[in-house]
Formats: sequence, C-alpha cells, structure tokens
Amino acid sequence: MINKERLITRFMEYVQIDSESKNEKAIAEKLINDLGDMGLEIHTDDTRKMTGSSTNNIYAFLQGNENEEPLLFTAHMDTVIPGNGIIPNIDGNYIKSGENTILGGDDKAGITAIIEAIKTIKENNLNNRPIEILFTVCEEIGLLGAKNFDYNLIRSKNAVVLDSSGAAGKIIIQAPCIYKMDVKITGKASHAGTSPEEGINAIIVASEAISSMKLLRIDKETTANIGSISGEGPTNIIQDKVEMEFEIRSLSEDKAKFQIEHMLECLNKSADKHGASIKYSISCGNRLFSIDKDNEFVKFIENKNEKIGVTSNITFSTGGFDANILNNNGINTVVLSVGTENVHTTKERLNIIEFEKLSKLVLELMIV
Ligand SMILES: [Zn+2]
Repeated sequence: MINKERLITRFMEYVQIDSESKNEKAIAEKLINDLGDMGLEIHTDDTRKMTGSSTNNIYAFLQGNENEEPLLFTAHMDTVIPGNGIIPNIDGNYIKSGENTILGGDDKAGITAIIEAIKTIKENNLNNRPIEILFTVCEEIGLLGAKNFDYNLIRSKNAVVLDSSGAAGKIIIQAPCIYKMDVKITGKASHAGTSPEEGINAIIVASEAISSMKLLRIDKETTANIGSISGEGPTNIIQDKVEMEFEIRSLSEDKAKFQIEHMLECLNKSADKHGASIKYSISCGNRLFSIDKDNEFVKFIENKNEKIGVTSNITFSTGGFDANILNNNGINTVVLSVGTENVHTTKERLNIIEFEKLSKLVLELMIV
C-alpha cells in the first residue's frame, strides 16, 4: 500500500532541506506543515534554550482506535556535517549524495517512513491505533532534544526509534552506557639538564599508566579508549602537567564500573611510584538500555516483520540513540534500521528496497 514513488520523492525533498545539528528550523517548519495537512495535533516544546537549536522538538498525535495501545514513533531532525546543500540522486537501488556531503538518510529516512505511513493511512481510510510522533533536535551532538523533552506528554508505553543503519529487520534491544573520564596528572617541574632527579615527569607517569591499562576491546560488551593526551613544553624542562581523555562503553553497568576502576588503579599506581598526583572527573554521556528479547513488544514487532516477509534480526548497538533516553524515562523503546549505509560519511547511501520494507513495517505497526 506504500506509494514507493512518493516515498522516494518525499525523502529527496526532505534531505534537500539543510538541518545540521542546531539548525533544524527549516525542516521543523516543513514537518509541522506536512503533519498539520494530515490533521494531526501538533505541539512544539520550548527546549530551544537548553539545546541551543534554532527550533524545538515536535510532538504530534493522530487519534485512533482507543481500544488499541498507543504507540510512539520517533526520529531525529538533525544531521551530522557536512550536511548543507545535499543533492540526492538515484543510482540503481540506491539514493546517494554528491561527493561533498552526507546524504542525510540518518535520519530523514526514519522521518519520511513515519510521514508516508500516516499519509497512506489517511488516503486509504485505514483503521489505526492512537499514534504519537516525536521528532527531536540535536540528536547527533549528545541526544540533547530527547534529553530535554517532557515525557509527561507521552501516553505510549512502547516506542520505536527509526534510526539505525542497515537492512530492514534489525531490532536493537540494547545500547551501551558511555562514560567519559578526564584525567589530570601533576608532577613536578625541574631543569632537565641540571636537576632532572628533582622533577617528576608527568609524561612518563602517563605513559606507564597507559601501557599497563587494558584498552580497546575489553570483552564482548565493553570497550575503552584514550582519545587525547596533551602535555606540551620545552625539552629543557621536566614536564609537570599532562591531561588525558578516555571513554568507556559497555552493555553492562557493572562491567563499565569495573573497567573504570581498573584504569584508575593503573593511573594511581604509576602516580604513586613517581610521586605525582592525579585528578579526574567522570561523566555519563549515555545511560544504557537493555530490553529482554522475549519482551512482548519485541515479539509484536517480530510478528509484523514476518507478516511483510522480512526476517527479524534482534541485536545490540555500540552507539547511543534517543532510545537510551526514552527507555530511561520509562518508555519501552527499541531501535529499527532504516536502510542507510555508511552513515556519517560522504559515502552515505540509502538502499531503496530496504527503505521501502521499513516503511511497510511502520505502516503495519500503526494500523489495527
Ligand atoms: Zn541517527
């Protein structure tokens, strides 16, 4: 029932509206217009001040059969850079961009699938469940829109975030917690030629600590990385200051904590050995979510996939989504794949066949 031609046309139209993070105003206005034309109730929040965006999150509601469970569909309006002046073109089964920009299928494909499913419901007079829609801002720069949204507005117990790359059928039920750890090592400055024994070289302390650390792939669920190290100075002075930034990801909160403790132990051991001091701060960028694969809502989606001839692929992610935030606000949320490939690069492309399958699934999830 999905009108493939119109689906593609709409996608091409949406990706040509610039919407790098914080600059979502034009696409938001277009979506408010399109949702309004289809008779949805629209509410925008007032999160602009918190997110720094040119616009707000969009919430929309389509009335439906009140005997059925309402369901929330979400996608994000912003894109990564370089995302201005996108010129999409069709090449066989793919939609691609020019060489200088991303395509913006992440996440305009998700947005388009939602809008087209509603359009299909309207033009065919289909019976639908109550449908809630949330289009967020600033997802790509730290899930800022989702983090600041007021979830008291949401009636649905369950939600789908349409935002993963890959072929249709993917159902992501776990995404990691992500911690950032900033470390400052303070040693003691001294003349490197006349009195090196009086100094404490922070670079040496750092290098011994790092070389004793387990980093990168820790186990199936956990990774850790050092992203930056800085400590600049002349060669004739014992360098007394080094700053480092680490990240730790895990699908298990306990494993993340264990890894952080291990890293701190390495740092402290090296600092103690040399008489340096360590200061650190740890912040949580993402809280993890983890849904049981036997969860009723997951089964419900699997059944709908089966109905349209798509094989479900229940899996986990290593990155964060708006779904992390929704789950931590009490909404049982999974992430679905939209058919994009090579996202966040200028080689990004959208597989039209997979995109159409996703759109069929979205429609199946909406109608009763
Ligand atoms: Zn995305």
